[in-house]
Amino acid sequence: MKLFKLILFSLLLSTSFAGNSQVKIPIIKNLNELDSAKVGTTHYWLEMGTNTYDLPMLVPIILIQGNESGPTLGLTAAIHGNELNGIAIIHRLAESIDPKLLKGRIIGIPGLNSVSVQSDERNFIDQEDLNRIFPGKKNGNSSNQYVYKITERVLPAFDIHIDFHTASFGRINSMYARADLSNDTLKILAKLQQPDIILNGKEASVGSTSARTMRAESTLKGTPTITVEYGNPQVYQEEMIQRGYNGIMNTLSWLQMYGTVDFQKLEDKATYCKKSYWIYMEEGGFLEVMVDLNQKLAKGEKIALVRNAFGEIIKEYVAPEDGIVIGKSTNPANMSGGRIIHLGILE
Ligand SMILES: [Zn+2]
Repeated sequence: MKLFKLILFSLLLSTSFAGNSQVKIPIIKNLNELDSAKVGTTHYWLEMGTNTYDLPMLVPIILIQGNESGPTLGLTAAIHGNELNGIAIIHRLAESIDPKLLKGRIIGIPGLNSVSVQSDERNFIDQEDLNRIFPGKKNGNSSNQYVYKITERVLPAFDIHIDFHTASFGRINSMYARADLSNDTLKILAKLQQPDIILNGKEASVGSTSARTMRAESTLKGTPTITVEYGNPQVYQEEMIQRGYNGIMNTLSWLQMYGTVDFQKLEDKATYCKKSYWIYMEEGGFLEVMVDLNQKLAKGEKIALVRNAFGEIIKEYVAPEDGIVIGKSTNPANMSGGRIIHLGILE
């Protein structure tokens, strides 16, 4: 009897923890290979080229395949490898959604730039920002080939796309969405995330091939796409993760894919901004930012001061116009051109 219990216990252990079972996960080369016949949550590795040892570079894919037909909601996190809150949002969704009650499917990618997630870096291994070089190039350099594979193997699978970000190193962000508010679907998608701030903007780079983002590329493909920024880099922030999760649940309900949210009860507390820009330091020094995230500012209000190496105040900065603080620097040590605050200008 004891032996039986021991065997049962070890069986339980081996099924409770994934451990090396990850090696059994199927490797695919394109999201069009996902099994849409099997209702449930399935894990895949998507191959995105090979590393120095000619081993595949793999990106984790969580497919939640519903019981009935419906749209595909694509969720991408960490195209910037140090932006982790979105990874936890996708993990939380995968844990909570019952595929039998889902219409359509959710494709969650918790770590699109998996190479950089592993090395705590924002940019790709060749220091390129992957989110500025879409659609990539088939025969380009390392980052261009990687982005080309995102364009070819990932984006065509999505009917609606939400791309998760955070601030960069040395900065913090409010929770804010970027969307083209002249498009009603995108406006609703942004609202459903219940962010602090909604920043209106056509992706400036749509149509040009310089500095094109993934949002712009997806938009060009005709896929309704928004970007949401959830707080700070290289951390898990419970508030951001839960708010992000709630936003996706609202989205699923609105798309009639899952759940029934009472939209009458959803308050729109977001501040709408027509544009935004960073305020940079004119000269180097030790920066003290005196305003908080989401704080509304009046023109002329003091936002920061800068001290020299000896502690003397050498410069004070004020808001150049009325606005709201979307993001701010947390790094005191700055050369000229250091970022101070990301100022949103209200509609
Ligand atoms: Zn980002």
